[in-house]
Amino acid sequence: MATAKGYAAQAASDKLSPFTFERREPNADDVVIAIKHCGVCHSDIHMVDNGWGMSVYPLVPGHEITGVVTAVGSSVSRFKEGDRVGVGCFVDSCTTCAQRDLDLEQYMPGLVQTYSSPQPGSDLPTYGGYSDHMVVKEGYVLSIPDNLALDAAAPLLCAGITLYSPLRHWNAGPGKKVAILGLGGLGHMGVKIAHAMGAEVTVLSQTLSKQGDGLKMGADHYYATSDAATFETLAGTLDLIICTVSAALDWGAYLNLLKIDGAMVLVGAPEEPAQLNAFALIPGRRTLAGSMIGSIKETQEMLDFCGQHDIVADIETISINQINDAYVRMQKSDVRYRFVIDMATL
Ligand code: NAP
Ligand code: ZN
Repeated sequence: MATAKGYAAQAASDKLSPFTFERREPNADDVVIAIKHCGVCHSDIHMVDNGWGMSVYPLVPGHEITGVVTAVGSSVSRFKEGDRVGVGCFVDSCTTCAQRDLDLEQYMPGLVQTYSSPQPGSDLPTYGGYSDHMVVKEGYVLSIPDNLALDAAAPLLCAGITLYSPLRHWNAGPGKKVAILGLGGLGHMGVKIAHAMGAEVTVLSQTLSKQGDGLKMGADHYYATSDAATFETLAGTLDLIICTVSAALDWGAYLNLLKIDGAMVLVGAPEEPAQLNAFALIPGRRTLAGSMIGSIKETQEMLDFCGQHDIVADIETISINQINDAYVRMQKSDVRYRFVIDMATL
């Protein structure tokens, strides 16, 4: 066992504070990673607060991890010491269940999430990337393209793939009108990726305060959802809406912006249930769907796509002792557009 340093919440809604714990000795198929940067996802806040009712404490958050390989087990063939790598939202998945499908493993029942997840063969939960190092099975480690900086690439490991996967699945591309609802960490990656895919991109944000940024990221149009006229102007015009909002919304109002056969995909995961009138869907044969991160194969495809298009996150770098303030700011939508922790400050 190797001693690791990190930051943890000891109970629901606790502030994060320094925490020392053990990482396993590497097995033959493991990669040891010195963590350089970790993005701060709104899911980290939901999990620290036990907002989804599934958290296990002590809880070391962090699933937008980049770093450098420091050692590999004897059977590891794809990585060597010094490689620039990433780890996203899960570190293992089932190998035996009937529906096993390696390219959709994020939806399989045996998923082991990067933090706060029970893990086979251990009494301890997984501990995430707000820490100095981790030990991860080779099959769950991603390669970071050489042209992408490790700090600004970190958010691709969750925010990037969470938007890339539904944009691909619902065929965002030339001739498609795609709206990104919420311009936060996930949303700003969605604007950049949808633009690079060739779609016509609209941002739907609470106000126009980030309009200049959104247009620079590649949006073609930008509307404030606080302005009732937005819902009249855009009614029936969009092919696809990706909702990244972390709080409960009136989804019906947004479904009405879809064309016939349009789809709204929820990736934002509010803690409260929502009500929906069936007539938001019926008149336009509309679809309301959900999507969760992406498979390891698709995450590597997304990283390579971002490498080809020079896409990284817009980041505010913080030291680890600023993390509790960063959570407060994120809850006020006051981040441009992703906090990334410099792990050298641990
Ligand atoms: P974030 O950076 O805080 O961005 C959320 C954005 O939602 C805000 O910037 C804001 O955009 C908008 N928003 C927030 N509160 C709102 C409210 N009350 N009404 C209307 N709009 C509001 O969060 P994030 O890291 O992008 O994560 C967003 C959500 O996705 C979280 O619930 C997270 O847990 C979830 N998530 C899901 C997956 C998945 O696989 N499905 C993966 C990662 C994260 P504007 O300022 O532009 O209005
Ligand atoms: Zn995340």
